[in-house]
Amino acid sequence: MMAEEFTGPRLFVDSRLQPESIVPLDRDQTNYLVNVLRMKEGERLLVFNGQDGEWLAGLRSSGRKQMILDIMCQTRPQPDAPDLVYLFAPLKHARLDYMAQKATEMGVSRLQPVITRHTQVSRVNLERMRANVIEAAEQCGILTIPDISPEQPLANTLDTLEPDRLLIFCDEHTPVANPVDALSDWRGSGRKAAILVGPEGGFASEEREMILRHQPVARLSLGPRILRADTAAVAVLAIVQSCLGDWV
Ligand code: SAH
Repeated sequence: MMAEEFTGPRLFVDSRLQPESIVPLDRDQTNYLVNVLRMKEGERLLVFNGQDGEWLAGLRSSGRKQMILDIMCQTRPQPDAPDLVYLFAPLKHARLDYMAQKATEMGVSRLQPVITRHTQVSRVNLERMRANVIEAAEQCGILTIPDISPEQPLANTLDTLEPDRLLIFCDEHTPVANPVDALSDWRGSGRKAAILVGPEGGFASEEREMILRHQPVARLSLGPRILRADTAAVAVLAIVQSCLGDWV
């Protein structure tokens, strides 16, 4: 079988990947491969580290209950990184885990938690978010791990966006209108985008005014129903990827 035809389990490793290199696995990785995936010594898997592309690797025991990987050959080169920023008011535990995984599967390049007036969460566990992002990346076949930025207030977030980056503002108070039409002016513009989704409590009126003063901004309705923020995440990412992104 050609190496690039291999479709085995995928594992993220924090090590350089080059021919003949050896990657020692930590306890969690060993447990995942041996006890969860029931992999045996000699079996193969795909590994990636977010920089060196994807590589075929062989599983081998190092004796002391640890497993190691023999790196064999590259199956996919490192692709260009996507560029789609996801700005969101952090949610509580399970919903935040879900949102981080879905944003990764939907192709964001950076997750930026934003603290707004009605945000229920004041601190974000960035390590937990990174673990969710890595798990999603292993599952969905991407080779670039989205960046995770520390939480920051809404005003700072708007101030630090690149001046030409389009802000796609999901506003639960905007009249229902076709979101595809709202984005059509930007189709083919090559414009980089940042998507903003608010907290379960919605945006405060002065926040809405501040956001709408930001330029360039596209104000998006996600239909006549109020979506949970984690539902809104998947909905808006599907629209943006199919209008402006890599679903086209
Ligand atoms: N509790 C608020 C709704 C917040 S929903 C209220 O009742 O008004 C959480 C976030 O999801 C919103 O801030 C918005 O960013 C997004 N969202 C949910 N439903 C939406 C819709 N129909 N149109 C646009 N954005 C929506």
